[in-house]
Amino acid sequence: MKIAVLKERAAGETRVAATPETVKKFIALGNEFAVEKGAGLSASIPDEAFAEAGATIGTAAASVKGADIVLGIQAPDVTKLKGAASGAWVAALYDPFQNGDLLSAYAKAGFEALSMEFMPRITRAQSMDVLSSQSNLAGYKAVLASADTYGRAFPMMMTAAGTVQAARAFIMGVGVAGLQAIATARRLGAQVSATDVRSATKEQIESLGAKPIFVESVAGIEGEGSGGYATEMSEEYQKAQAELVSSHIAKQDIVITTALIPGRAAPVLITDAQIASMKPGSVIYDLAVAQGGNVEGSKPDEIVEKHGVKIIGYANTPAHLATDASALFARNHYNFLSAFWDKEAGKPELDDEIGDAVRLTKGGEVVNERLKG
Ligand code: NAD
Repeated sequence: MKIAVLKERAAGETRVAATPETVKKFIALGNEFAVEKGAGLSASIPDEAFAEAGATIGTAAASVKGADIVLGIQAPDVTKLKGAASGAWVAALYDPFQNGDLLSAYAKAGFEALSMEFMPRITRAQSMDVLSSQSNLAGYKAVLASADTYGRAFPMMMTAAGTVQAARAFIMGVGVAGLQAIATARRLGAQVSATDVRSATKEQIESLGAKPIFVESVAGIEGEGSGGYATEMSEEYQKAQAELVSSHIAKQDIVITTALIPGRAAPVLITDAQIASMKPGSVIYDLAVAQGGNVEGSKPDEIVEKHGVKIIGYANTPAHLATDASALFARNHYNFLSAFWDKEAGKPELDDEIGDAVRLTKGGEVVNERLKG
């Protein structure tokens, strides 16, 4: 099989879908590997490192020519895949609910689009899950970016010139990103509290040494929720949550929001009136800003100042940690394909559980059940 990796072309994308480590491993499985010239530069991986690992370096067209599998971070435009083998697999992020035109183009060109964000949340797929690997880094970076923007310190400091108070940080949404945000804010010395709609997160918050802030009057989601994901909450819950947040948020210096609902716009968790109740100089980092935002008025890649509060959020937070984000994403790709490698056939054969979950297009059609219904 020929496997190809192209330079990412989306604005602000710095990651690359393979590293010298994964190139070596794919070659050890009996494959040929092609990398577009300069594909790794923004992630600090020079062409020579890919070449030393055994990859052929060339133009986009030469790399993709005859490729059976193309690996990407964000799915490339179909015009960049011209010359790939008929029915080639393209494993990448598709943002499938928002990208109907792209999927139609992939179907029409006869490619099999494999959506890495549709990887099922089952134990054996954990090492293939790009949402987890990237969210973890994003949670970390959100805290660092907030600390950098905040005009005060995170830890309490007793100095000869007087005491510096510890920052209070509040994490809203305790999935993979939120857990890492709690851990990072604690390491920096903040007093941390956190909330979620899934009751299973309460214990996780406590185990990281933070304080859980939960709606008690209306039931949230017991346990982990379907596949670990949250759903849209009832109006009654939303009202109770808004009241709870209003009383808590006014005392916070740093708020990190991470709440997402698959296939829907992110829920708005912080309104303009709540922002107005915060102290001037406070910082909010909206990790959901690219999915519509958890914070009223947040804008991707902009510092919006409202009522003296700075609201920030990168459009693509993992891209701000390009080297580690690429390394983990590339391993997710390798773990995914190698788990299904049929040594005799010399190619991967996906099983139904994972194959049907991630496959978006095949045989000229959009085939994924989540997109149909
Ligand atoms: P996510 O990115 O979909 O959402 C982030 C968090 O926001 C979630 O915890 C969610 O409950 C919360 N949220 C949604 N709406 C909210 C609201 N209105 N108010 C407050 N919080 C809200 O979630 P995620 O980070 O991908 O992880 C969710 C769960 O799935 C976790 O328990 C994680 O451990 C689990 N998981 C399992 C696997 C696996 O087994 N392979 C892989 C990844 C994640």
